[in-house]
Amino acid sequence: MRASFLFLIALLLSVAPAAIAQTPPPKTFDIYVVDVEGGDSVLFVSPSGESLLMDMAGGGTTTRDVDRVMDAVKDAQLTKLDNVLVTHWHGDHFRGLAELAKRIPIGNFIDHGPDVQGNAEVHKFVTGDYAALYSKAKHTVVKPGDKLPVAGLDWRIVTAAGQVIKTPLPGGGIPNPSCATFVPKDKDDDGGIENAMSVGSVIAFGKFRMAHMGDLTWNKEFELMCPKNPIGNVDLWIVSNHGLRISNSEVLVHGLRPRVAIMNNGIRKGGEPELMKTIYTTPGFENLWELHFSLLSGQEYTVPGLFIANDLDDPQVAMPIAPMPPPVDLYVPALPRSPDPPPHNGKAYWIKVSAKSDGTFTVTNQRNNFSKTYEPRSSR
Ligand SMILES: [Zn+2]
Repeated sequence: MRASFLFLIALLLSVAPAAIAQTPPPKTFDIYVVDVEGGDSVLFVSPSGESLLMDMAGGGTTTRDVDRVMDAVKDAQLTKLDNVLVTHWHGDHFRGLAELAKRIPIGNFIDHGPDVQGNAEVHKFVTGDYAALYSKAKHTVVKPGDKLPVAGLDWRIVTAAGQVIKTPLPGGGIPNPSCATFVPKDKDDDGGIENAMSVGSVIAFGKFRMAHMGDLTWNKEFELMCPKNPIGNVDLWIVSNHGLRISNSEVLVHGLRPRVAIMNNGIRKGGEPELMKTIYTTPGFENLWELHFSLLSGQEYTVPGLFIANDLDDPQVAMPIAPMPPPVDLYVPALPRSPDPPPHNGKAYWIKVSAKSDGTFTVTNQRNNFSKTYEPRSSR
């Protein structure tokens, strides 16, 4: 009797630690910002396991960008993508889509509606290959005010097809002091009018809030954020339009007041001085993380390398001090231009965010494993 009692105790002791070890950790909202060389591909995985890929870039004729996104998909242990959202019909946001659909099942295709730019090749894709893809799945055209049904998240659409949200979100409807000094641009877009059609999202998980506006343009930011800011503040912001200065006005950046920003820039795309100053002067701003060293920043404006995920295939010895002019400049076409960027087709690293519902979030640079945790701010 006593022996069997001791046996029972021993059994319980051996089982108990295993049972404790199997208790799942609190679920996080995970975001992978994938390096697609100045395009856009961000993978969102909700605590429920439901997924949304925002944009599928596709550089050149290779499958490089799709391979990189699939690395993130595997890391997140996904066997399907519940949703793919195309913010707008520019190649750096959709060119890899057909290849991606060959690799993994996609449940729902989300966009702002038909392409409007008048580019024959793009139009052929949207009405041909893309329509064929969603005919076998679900297709959702969104408008401002819509809520995307991603389980576990509060996902609001704030811009789409050139329209902006009219009813403030919870926490929005607040004054935006930057509106008073806004100066509109004569030329609002670099690529026809598709950037201005971008689908913009504000996503909340408990107390954590973030924003991704696609490539929304300068003047459209004013329409959205003025005279009152309908969004309120966010913890995390994916810098608009790859960090180009044709977007990212103070009405948006200082209005959202992100604590942390991640820039999906390229080596010579995004990160120009004007934009960097706007970000650095955001009240309450803490850190900017970048997918690439930007030669357009130079040492004068760059962030420390710890916060940068990628270099070149042939790494540079040192960052030049002076910013370099961009290869293409909408506003000053006569400027001496720098050549196209050197290649980065080798190993690429993502920046990953894991957020908890209490508002705590951790950002990790996959290249050097540097990570930083941001505690919730009580008085936002
Ligand atoms: Zn773009």
